[in-house]
Parts: sequence; structure tokens; C-alpha cells
Amino acid sequence: ATAIVLFNRDLRVHDHPALVAACERAERVVPLFVLDPAVPAGNRQGFLLECLAELRAALRARDGDLVVRQGDVVHETMKLAAEVDATTIYAGADVSSLARRREEHLARERIEYLRFPGVTVVPPDALRPSGGGDHYRVFTPYWRAWTRHPRRPVLPPPRTVPTPPGLTAGRLPPLQPPGPVPGGEPAARERADRWLRHGLDGYADGHDDLAGDRTSRLSPYLRFGCLSPLELARRAERSEPFVRQLCWRDFHHQVTYAFPRICRENYRHPERRWRQDPDALQAWQAGMTGLPIVDAGMRQLLAEGWMHNRARLITAAYLVKHLGLDWREGVRHFFEHLLDGDVADNSGNWQWVAGTGNDTRPNRTFNPLRQAKRYDPAGHYVRRYVPELAGVPAPYVHEPWRLPSPPAGYPARLDGAADQG
Ligand code: FAD
Repeated sequence: ATAIVLFNRDLRVHDHPALVAACERAERVVPLFVLDPAVPAGNRQGFLLECLAELRAALRARDGDLVVRQGDVVHETMKLAAEVDATTIYAGADVSSLARRREEHLARERIEYLRFPGVTVVPPDALRPSGGGDHYRVFTPYWRAWTRHPRRPVLPPPRTVPTPPGLTAGRLPPLQPPGPVPGGEPAARERADRWLRHGLDGYADGHDDLAGDRTSRLSPYLRFGCLSPLELARRAERSEPFVRQLCWRDFHHQVTYAFPRICRENYRHPERRWRQDPDALQAWQAGMTGLPIVDAGMRQLLAEGWMHNRARLITAAYLVKHLGLDWREGVRHFFEHLLDGDVADNSGNWQWVAGTGNDTRPNRTFNPLRQAKRYDPAGHYVRRYVPELAGVPAPYVHEPWRLPSPPAGYPARLDGAADQG
């Protein structure tokens, strides 16, 4: 029999349960990726194409190939199934509403549709709170259950992928000029190896140091599944603080699985009234609010397609709590620019910050100036991303309005009130 392995956000050959099962059970295996123009790739398009090129190379090295089609995923998958006479589709289960709709449509077609784990460490529907409910709403009890949950084994890549002869693989769109982060599984594994050897042990103390940049920066690779989160969690188990972050990722995925409207609707609390202020929104997006720590974060996002977690918290809280603008505006902008931009993690974290999500203290306040002095005490992070302030010493670098003459080219504070801090 012939099987299609439908790749989605699992662009790897290591620890790929759907691929391994197909190679074990089917005589012929047709790996497929569908570039769907309806799915906005934002800044991620170039990274995605690099991931696909590497996946194709890895499959070819195993006597296989990667068929690449463009169009609607369900339509293209069924078209290929007819062409190669496939009887089964093997695919990784995903959580977003779009992915779930796709799964439902494929499951209704006249072909066997099999879902496999792999996008998270623990599958999003595996844990149920003992007190009832279909998912965990609070992180700490989820973490406790998550750490106790038995893990499936990490799978080696299949030795061969028996692709049928004469298969037309289709062209990949041309690669774009290299972006700030190289895409694909080999780059992901190399970065992970380096991180586990040299970075992991400093994580507990260093992860909030903005200028030190001491987090793994593995998020784009986890986003596209160039790395298996299960394998990473296993290899990183000596650092509980790091594994806890991987659990946060799973947490937001299981929330999204239960509440797929998370990117649009408040998860809890009645609708708040948000201000409309297009100029303020634009200043925030461009990193021109006049609050250096916020501007540094927003400019890091534009320059690198990535932002330090502490800066994400500060810039997000500034938008929703300081400027009073709708968290959905933040979701949209981050989603467009982040290489790791992901429905579950992006929306879940935005709602957490906005107080409409899973934070047990929804009225928490974030003082951006205090955060700046604590997590960027010498101002190196600000100076790195805001060149107008490159020559300003600490502590003025965080409060340039206190200088006798403001630095040339740097905007005045958008919120006007220098004493609010
Ligand atoms: P590390 O600190 O090295 O952590 C390792 C991995 O754990 C990360 O790669 C990520 O997969 C996971 N992780 C860490 N923190 C979180 C978290 N709070 N929630 C979920 N997973 C986490 N992360 C995304 O992957 N995609 C997003 O779209 C995204 N949007 C965010 C929006 C806001 C407003 C905030 C506050 C956070 C967002 N995060 C998002 C979470 C977090 O900021 C990033 O995962 C992290 O900064 C990535 O850098 P790293 O790989 O060096 O992380």
C-alpha cells in the first residue's frame, strides 16, 4: 500500500512518529508539504523554504523525496492521493483552529487518516485536571502533571523512505537571501548541540539578562518542528528552569487545543474596552515610543525577527496596560514579524500579559522603567538596538528625558508623563 506523510510543523526526520510509522507499515511512502497561500507566513516565508530544502535533502539521502505542492492543503493532498493511489495519510496532530479544520476535512475524505504526536512534548489532549474540565487553566498544576506523565521513546530517523519510482517532487520556490537565522533541521540540531553543551547550565541565572542574550534562541526551530520538543526536553533534563519553559509551550498548546478561538477572543473576563490610537500603535510598532527599553525590544523584533522573552513581556505590557490598546493589535504585529510566530504561544502569552488569559494575577502591573533598570542595568541592550542612545551613559540611557538636552533624533515620550516611570 502507499501512504502519504503530510508534513506541517514537523519539518524534520529525527523523532518523527508519523514518518517512522509510515515507513514501517507501508510499502511506499510519499512525503508531502503543501504551501498554502491562505496561511500567512509573514516574515517566516524564507525560513520555511530553507526548512523545506533541508527536509527534502534529508529525505533524498534516505532514498526518498519531498513532494511540494501549492494550494489548499486538503485539495492538494487528495489530488496527490489519487495520483499515487494512496490508501492512508499519516500526519502530526496540531492545535490551531486552521489546522484542526484541515484535519477534520481530511478525516471526512474517503481515505484513512492517522494522527500522530510530535508537535509538543506531551500531546495536548493527554492531561485532564482531576477536578474536572477538558484542559488545565493554571500552569503550576499542569507542570506537576506534565512532569509525571510517561513519555514515548525518542525515535531515530528512518533508514530508508521507500518512495515510489517516477514521483514528481515539484519545485521549491527559489530560496530568498539568507535571513538572520538559518532554517532547517541541520542548523537546528547544531544550535541545540551547542546550547546543551555551553548554554544550558547558565540558563537558570542568565535567562532574564537582556543584554547577555543567554537563552537558547531555539524557538524558530521548535515553531517549525526542525527540532523535536520531546527530544530536546529529554536532552535538557538537567536544567529544570529550561524544561519548564518547554512545558509553558505545551501549556499554551493544550489551552489552544481546548479554546481554538484564542487568537481572536478573550479567554476569560468580560470584554475590556480598549483605546483606539493609530499613532500610538504605529509608534510602538516602529520602536519610536520614546521609552528606550520598549523601543529596543520593538526594534530587535524588526531587525532579527526575534525578541528576548523579557522584552516581549515589557513591550506587550506597555501596549495593553500603559497605552490601553487591544492585545489583538499586538498579536498581529508579533505574528507578522516573529520567526517563531505561533498561534498558541503568541496568543496565549499576549492574553496572559493582557490579563484576559491564564495569569492567576490578571491585574498584575509592569513598570517598564523598573524592569529596564533591573534586567538591563548597564543599558547595553538599549544601546545595541537604539543607535540614537549609543552615547548615553546609564542610568540616563533608560530615561533620556532627564538629560539637559535630549539625544538627537530620539523621540519624546509618547505617554508624555516622565514621572510615571
Ligand atoms: P528559551 O528561554 O531558551 O526557552 C526555550 C523554549 O521554551 C523556547 O524556544 C520556547 O519554545 C519555549 N518557551 C519559552 N518561554 C515560553 C513561553 N512564555 N510560552 C511558550 N513557550 C515558551 N514563543 C513562541 O515560540 N512563539 C510566539 O509567537 C511567542 N509569542 C510571545 C508573545 C509574548 C507577548 C510573550 C510575552 C512571549 C511569547 N513567546 C512566544 C514566548 C517566549 O518569549 C519565546 O518562546 C522565547 O523568547 C523564545 O526564545 P528562546 O528560544 O531563546 O527561549
